[in-house]
Amino acid sequence: MSDGKPANDERRLSGRCMCGAVRYTVEDAFSYAGNCHCSLCRQATGAAFKPFAGIEREKMTVTRGEDSLLIFGEADNHDARCARCGSFLYSVVREGAYVHISMGTLVDEPTLRPTEHIFVGSKAPWYTITDDLPQYEGHVFEGPPINR
Ligand SMILES: [Zn+2]
Ligand SMILES: [Zn+2]
Repeated sequence: MSDGKPANDERRLSGRCMCGAVRYTVEDAFSYAGNCHCSLCRQATGAAFKPFAGIEREKMTVTRGEDSLLIFGEADNHDARCARCGSFLYSVVREGAYVHISMGTLVDEPTLRPTEHIFVGSKAPWYTITDDLPQYEGHVFEGPPINR
């Protein structure tokens, strides 16, 4: 019988910010992963796009430095960064039910890799996508891929 605790053999991944003040673990059981090219993700990361992986919020635990988090946004919809070094660690999304892990902060290798590019309609003009993953104008549910 299950007692509600995670199985002992459930693989967990660790992640951390650049300076090490904040650390977290997350189950290696992401529901989805993608590369987001929207302007908000580009500005939030300073990069061409943000590789992110989504999972139910309770499957991620901040194990160190919770009081060092810089929260930008509302309780159930925010970005979380390290207040010391600024690393963009994760976002709480979907009315607080899910987190989107910024995959660049994972120390361990997740089983699931990004499976698509989203918001390619607002992609940086100076960046060219060179892989064969499906590309979506916006969200995946808004329409078929634009490159196949
Ligand atoms: Zn830090
Ligand atoms: Zn985005």
